[in-house]
Amino acid sequence: MPDAYLALGGNVGDSRAILDRAVRMLDDSKDITVTARSSDYLTPPWGMTDQPPFVNLCLAIETALTPHQLLERTQAVERALGRDRLAETRWGPRTCDIDILAYDDLTLSDRDLTLPHPLMFERAFVLVPLAEIAGGKVIAGKRIDDAARQIDGAGIQKLPAQ
Ligand code: AMP
Repeated sequence: MPDAYLALGGNVGDSRAILDRAVRMLDDSKDITVTARSSDYLTPPWGMTDQPPFVNLCLAIETALTPHQLLERTQAVERALGRDRLAETRWGPRTCDIDILAYDDLTLSDRDLTLPHPLMFERAFVLVPLAEIAGGKVIAGKRIDDAARQIDGAGIQKLPAQ
């Protein structure tokens, strides 16, 4: 089955509980199996910095869904957890954001989906959790643990398991 990597984040409400629900909603669906989950990390806001810190985590999954079906599914989970894209600002506060980082070794870019995720190598809040579960993985020619070492992870804090 194809494998994929997801990045989850949120900073509105009880983010750890909301992201935990998102993980369970993804894992409970018959065509997605979560094979690894990183710790939760408290991370400084990125892009729009005048907002509360985020909680971020990464998942490795196996899925029978195509990339676009997976995107539909992750967006359905975002909506179920109260995300309203029309009401939010770019990089602003959100209850639950789910990005697809990579899907097998697929490279694609269309109106709805770009893979691997074009900003993942600029974001410590993605690379640090991803390195915890997939350090040896190579995406877009880069080893994840090398990329995580090279990026400035200042202010990122690993949270204890709950
Ligand atoms: P965001 O506000 O960061 O959740 O961006 C979501 C938008 O990015 C959606 O309209 C998606 O169609 C698009 N998108 C493009 N590539 C990806 C990806 N790899 N993972 C998630 N969303 C993506």
